[in-house]
Amino acid sequence: KSFKDLGVNEQIAEACDNLGWKNPSKIQVEAIPVALTGKDIIGLAQTGSGKTGAFAIPILQSLLEAPQAFFACVLSPTRELAIQIAEQFEALGSGIGVKCAVLVGGVDTVQQSIALGKRPHIVVATPGRLVDHLSNTKGFSLRTLKYLVLDEADRLLNEDFEKSLDEILNVIPRERRTFLFSATMTKKVKKLQRACLKNPVKIEA
Ligand code: AMP
Repeated sequence: KSFKDLGVNEQIAEACDNLGWKNPSKIQVEAIPVALTGKDIIGLAQTGSGKTGAFAIPILQSLLEAPQAFFACVLSPTRELAIQIAEQFEALGSGIGVKCAVLVGGVDTVQQSIALGKRPHIVVATPGRLVDHLSNTKGFSLRTLKYLVLDEADRLLNEDFEKSLDEILNVIPRERRTFLFSATMTKKVKKLQRACLKNPVKIEA
C-alpha cells in the first residue's frame, strides 16, 4: 500500500516521499486510515516502528483542513524524543508551513515563551515543562486544542509526571481526539486510557 492508498493527501504523501519513506510502515497502515476518520487510537508500538508518522500524518492532514494555532499537543517522556517528534512534524509539514514549539526541561524558558508567542500549530512537550508554561507564560493556553497525543504512555506514567499529566488534562477541551501510544499495556496505561480516550480503536505494530 502507498500513503495515498491510506487516504493521505498529495502534499503530505509528497513530503513522505521527500523523506525517503517509500511505503507506510505496519503501524502507519493500521493507524492512519482510522485516525483520518476521527477516531481515538490506542497503539501498541515500539520506537522504530514509525509511530511518530502514524500520528503526525493524520494530525497534519486535519490541520490543513482547518488551520489554527495550538491545534495539537504531543506529550513525551523525554527531551530527546520530544525534539525528534518535532523534527518529524516539521519535515512532514515543510510544504504547508507548519510551526512547532518544543517545551522541554533543562532549557531556558524564555526562548520557549517566545516560541509560544508565535502561536505554533503543534506543541511537543514534556509534562512538567508544559505545566510551567501553562501557569507562567502569559497568553498561552490549550483551550482550543483539537488533538492530544500521549507518546510512550507507559513512560509518561512515572511518579514525576502523573501530577503534571492530571493538571494538563484538566485544562484541555474534552471535545478532542486523543492518540495514546505505548510499548506495553500496563494497569496504569489502561487507567489512563479510560480517563482520556473515547471508544478507541486498538492497533498493534
Ligand atoms: P519512530 O518509530 O516514529 O521513532 O520512527 C523511527 C524512524 O523510522 C524515523 O527515523 C523515521 O524517520 C523512520 N520512518 C518512519 N516511517 C517510515 C516509513 N514509512 N518508511 C521509512 N522510514 C520511516
